[in-house]
Amino acid sequence: MECGTAADLRIDLGALVANYRLIAQRVAPAQVAGVVKADAYGLGAVPVSRALLDAGCRHFFVAHLCEAVELKPHMPQDATLYVLNGLRPGAEAACAGIGAVPVLNALAQIDRWAALARELKRSLPAVVQVDTGMSRLGLTPDELAILRDEPERLDGVDIRLVMTHLACADDPSDQTNADQRSLFDSIAAQFPGVPRSIDNSGGAMAPDVRHGDIVRAGIALYGGAPHDGPNPMAAVVALDAYIMQLRQVPAGAGVGYGLTHRCERPTHVATVSVGYADGWPRHVSGRGSVYIGGIRVPVIGRVSMDSMAIDVTDLPEDLLYPGAPVELLGPHQTIDDVAAQAGTISYEILTRLGSRYERTYLPAILESIEP
Ligand SMILES: *Cc1c(COP(=O)(O)O)cnc(C)c1O
Repeated sequence: MECGTAADLRIDLGALVANYRLIAQRVAPAQVAGVVKADAYGLGAVPVSRALLDAGCRHFFVAHLCEAVELKPHMPQDATLYVLNGLRPGAEAACAGIGAVPVLNALAQIDRWAALARELKRSLPAVVQVDTGMSRLGLTPDELAILRDEPERLDGVDIRLVMTHLACADDPSDQTNADQRSLFDSIAAQFPGVPRSIDNSGGAMAPDVRHGDIVRAGIALYGGAPHDGPNPMAAVVALDAYIMQLRQVPAGAGVGYGLTHRCERPTHVATVSVGYADGWPRHVSGRGSVYIGGIRVPVIGRVSMDSMAIDVTDLPEDLLYPGAPVELLGPHQTIDDVAAQAGTISYEILTRLGSRYERTYLPAILESIEP
């Protein structure tokens, strides 16, 4: 606020830790890894990882090596950083240098990692990902057959985990999940004794499945619904913008770019301090909502780059003044609600929350250890 930011973003690390514990309880004896890629879905990889570390988490997944480089200094010796997107050709030495564990997604990546291990004359840790149907990343059946016939290609590679990724985990009733799980079971048998990882948030929160040894939780840690329907996760983010200006406009007046909104009645219009450059989706133009004093207020007209208009005609006057808080995310409106308004998913709402906000972290208060 002091330097005049668009809005206040509050990140509740207590809720994050509560979510971590809920997932841990659901998947036990499997462990929960924190997926902290994309700056922990926009919430701050360092403070999020610290809170998870304090709660006992020791496995962290990022997408890119550069994200691992940034996090590494904040990780204790006994924590492991995995790089989901694997190794870009030429990045092997840098990855080994910081002790990050790459997710090897192709035979060529395995070959280059093994070659480096031979060169360094020490074994190098890795995760092997296999494609069980998503057609995104991971070894293909052909590559797995080659590996079976030529196991020496893995010489020097210390496989810490064999993993796959579910395409439809947001819907536990989808048959694809069972198909991918059983295919994975048969493939993983090719790596005897190696711990297994299958589930993201949706898979981790799915009832009646075996979770392998480590689940990779992202969105559910951050309060997003792992599946459609009631959300068992605690909200982690709250975002308050403010009213910049208020005006009374007559019936028939247009509002915003293109004058796409025409007032049907004399209207009290408030201009709010957040727009699409702040990560607020332009797709909520004319159909989104915000809350003032717990009352729903519609977004009218197009969302601008740095502001948007709302219709406050029906609100009590005492809630309306320059500087008045406007809830964009909070007790009345979740990231999933806004995602539905914008025709997207909570992941995109979170990861787009811009860098223009003042961020406040509410600390997690960890239960004291019994004397
Ligand atoms: C991003 C990602 C996750 C985390 O997914 P959520 O749905 O956010 O829990 C897990 N595994 C892989 C491979 C991912 O890319």
